[in-house]
Amino acid sequence: MSSVGKNIDALCTKCGMVLAHIILYEVRGVIAQVKCKTCGAEHKYRGSKPRTKSGEAGKERTRRVGTKADEESRQAEAAETQRWLQRHRELKENAAIADYHMTGRYQRGDVINHPSFGIGFVEKILEEQRMDVLFKGNLRRMVMNYHAREMA
Ligand SMILES: [Zn+2]
Repeated sequence: MSSVGKNIDALCTKCGMVLAHIILYEVRGVIAQVKCKTCGAEHKYRGSKPRTKSGEAGKERTRRVGTKADEESRQAEAAETQRWLQRHRELKENAAIADYHMTGRYQRGDVINHPSFGIGFVEKILEEQRMDVLFKGNLRRMVMNYHAREMA
């Protein structure tokens, strides 16, 4: 069950408090990016609890190397990069590339341009408002056709 497009409480670093956010995309089933419904800032999802002072500094460096999950995600990333490169090679010079907007409507086979991830290929449409997009190095489950009414 994907939660892309749904609301979630998350800490907004701009507003400085826990507020309702929209889930913008997931990577391998994990919520990755959210958008604050109050200020509109887009940022990484860090959970709903404000971080403590002691946890803040070291957090980014606690990534363990060599675990099975790390290895699997490295392999998945490598495979997705290969697939992306192949699709990119096949991309025709005059192909239509649409800028990505969360309110936009896309179809399987569309090529989109994302402000942070660049060129992406729409691989799968899930329901009305979710799609899987292959970006270089990551398949992301993105929200599309978004409207303010809460999504199912
Ligand atoms: Zn905010």
